[in-house]
Amino acid sequence: MTLACCLRSRGASVIVADDGAPGSSSRVATGLIHPITGRRIVKTWMADTLIPEARAWYRALEGKTDTSFFRDVEIVEAFTSAGNRNDWSARTGDPAYAPYIKAAIGPGGLGESLLLPLGGVTVQGYHIDTSAYLSAAGHLLGDALVRGTVTGKREWNGMAFGRIIDCTGYLARSNPRFGQVPLVPVKGETLTIQCAGLPEGRVFNAGKHLLPLGGGRWHVGSTFDWRFRHTRPSGAGRAELEEFLDRYVTVPYRVEAHQAAVRPAIDGRRPVIGMHPDHPDIGLFNGLGTKGVLLAPWLAAQFTAHLLDGAPLHPETDIARFYN
Ligand SMILES: Cc1cc2nc3c(=O)[nH]c(=O)nc-3n(C[C@H](O)[C@H](O)[C@H](O)COP(=O)(O)OP(=O)(O)OC[C@H]3O[C@@H](n4cnc5c(N)ncnc54)[C@H](O)[C@@H]3O)c2cc1C
Repeated sequence: MTLACCLRSRGASVIVADDGAPGSSSRVATGLIHPITGRRIVKTWMADTLIPEARAWYRALEGKTDTSFFRDVEIVEAFTSAGNRNDWSARTGDPAYAPYIKAAIGPGGLGESLLLPLGGVTVQGYHIDTSAYLSAAGHLLGDALVRGTVTGKREWNGMAFGRIIDCTGYLARSNPRFGQVPLVPVKGETLTIQCAGLPEGRVFNAGKHLLPLGGGRWHVGSTFDWRFRHTRPSGAGRAELEEFLDRYVTVPYRVEAHQAAVRPAIDGRRPVIGMHPDHPDIGLFNGLGTKGVLLAPWLAAQFTAHLLDGAPLHPETDIARFYN
């Protein structure tokens, strides 16, 4: 959708065919942009470029569609061990992290309902309500968004296309044209809970996160499963999320919903875009992994400039890297 909106904003003629299957990664996603991630607590790849680009994209689309799906959020990073606290302290003193790390919170600083035994720091993040974003983008696309299952052929539904770009998420692994691209799908599960008495207004993160949805509802995410046997919500996934809740939340909660989807991750962790080197009428937009919300606007702008102006792709995202 993001790529299609971007191409159309430059006057390209585009049709998006989506099969509307429930549980796409984009719909289930938490929608969080976190500038500092990973076990080593480092700035997310190209954060200083990608975050402003994403903000500008989502804000502009809100303006064009008169909708609201993007918000600034403060993320409370709970220290999970003494080593983890030391790593965060090192980042706090680093000027490169100054735009993102806001303040320290002492042990117990979130009150009695949400435990913070070792204290934490607050980080500037962003949240996109992905369902609302997809609806707004779909509205903008209008008749250019059609329901249907594509087969990879350039003739489809009575229409002929000059180029096809595969944006099918983890299902692209069954597209034989892209067999060389090392997709590593990762299933993720989330809960929506109702819980009164938690301090609203901030995201809480301690390996997993609690994101306020308003009115006492919270999104709880997410699990990572590389060896899944099915794509439906599982008992093990729910148990893992409830274990996280039971470790940090001291007030009662009720599970309202349990969802699962598969992230289109890639070995090497960089996304992959571009036209197939040997079949230049077929392209790929994939590998958004755990950071699709952050990556999509920048990747879409790059791919658009590549297709319409012949601009080179960023070498770390270029599909050509798998065909040399
Ligand atoms: C639990 C979970 C939490 C996440 N949290 C975050 C987060 O907080 N922040 C973040 O940035 N990212 C997050 N992500 C990752 C993010 O969701 C993905 O990176 C991104 O949504 C991938 O988008 P995509 O368009 O490539 O794939 P998808 O969203 O899966 O879209 C692919 C679409 O193609 C359709 N399709 C497939 N095959 C066909 C066909 N043959 N014909 C027609 N249509 C077809 C599918 O139905 C689907 O609609 C999360 C993912 C999960 C699962």
